[in-house]
Amino acid sequence: MLRSVILAASRSSRVERLVATAPFSRDVVRRFVAGAKTDDALRATRELVDDGLAVTLDNLGEDTVTGEQANATRDEYLTLLRMLGEAKLTPAAEVSVKLSALGQAFDEQLAYDNARAICAAAEAAGTTVTLDMEDHTTTDSTLDILTKLRKDHPSTGAVLQAYLRRTESDCRDLASAGSRVRLCKGAYREPESVAYQSAREVDKSYVRCLNILMSGDGYPMLATHDPRLIAIGEDRARWFDRDPDRFEFQMLYGIRPEEQARLVGEGYTVRTYVPYGDDWYGYLMRRLAERPANLAFFARALTSKK
Ligand SMILES: Cc1cc2nc3c(=O)[nH]c(=O)nc-3n(C[C@H](O)[C@H](O)[C@H](O)COP(=O)(O)OP(=O)(O)OC[C@H]3O[C@@H](n4cnc5c(N)ncnc54)[C@H](O)[C@@H]3O)c2cc1C
Repeated sequence: MLRSVILAASRSSRVERLVATAPFSRDVVRRFVAGAKTDDALRATRELVDDGLAVTLDNLGEDTVTGEQANATRDEYLTLLRMLGEAKLTPAAEVSVKLSALGQAFDEQLAYDNARAICAAAEAAGTTVTLDMEDHTTTDSTLDILTKLRKDHPSTGAVLQAYLRRTESDCRDLASAGSRVRLCKGAYREPESVAYQSAREVDKSYVRCLNILMSGDGYPMLATHDPRLIAIGEDRARWFDRDPDRFEFQMLYGIRPEEQARLVGEGYTVRTYVPYGDDWYGYLMRRLAERPANLAFFARALTSKK
């Protein structure tokens, strides 16, 4: 219920104006976002890499509505990738890209062309790209673009969301050699017709999908903070004889950092998803929706400021 309300607010421009301009928001944002500028992203990446973590960087922004915005997002990724290469932070750092930020909603060809330019820049910098997955109305388009990108850039990664009923079948299609697949629970508000609604059903689906990916030939990226699912991931790695270089765990910047460090200590590959940029509203609201305790954190920040 609370989750639905927050996710509905994440699509409201009125609430966005209220939250985005409130001074207390900055404190909350700082916990989940590395900073506003490319240099902030590089600084956070350096710190994480020095601690033994791998990184995927997300230039915040989604649902762009003009070609200029989409091209500006592409250019930011090109700059970021050049700087990561020059700073010798690749291949430890890769990038995560939302196709909606590249124009997917109004010009699929433009989104593809922009994504292709980013993939080429990533390859030149010695690293890879993962296409984030957004709401279910974009899944087919995103997987089509992924297939086209993989012709020239086979290491381009996909994201599949366990809450969608279709995902087991998508896992089967993508569990092939060289295929990088991030498995997450899913962060959007989706109707019952396409998505499991209860946490228990989503968790069971996650395990079925995890089994398909871990027993397949691709490179699974288990994106979750859920202690039970992480333990199951560790178990399946032993069961299917997957060494730490044949799969990885992924978690979000600022969430369960001690667990990220523990897994690194155990010898696993752990990648931290690091968002940066000014356009943090949608991202922050999804993080609040995931965990009521984050709302309390938000409220504390609100009451501790004049
Ligand atoms: C690397 C990465 C990339 C992702 N990419 C996508 C994507 O492309 N598309 C998409 O739809 N979703 C994406 N997600 C989000 C994902 O779908 C979930 O919404 C999110 O990870 C929360 O689910 P969970 O598996 O951690 O389990 P949950 O059941 O939500 O959480 C399990 C436990 O983890 C901790 N935790 C989880 N979330 C938070 C939080 N926000 N703050 C503090 N503690 C928390 C808590 O201890 C909680 O009890 C991504 C997640 C990760 C980690």
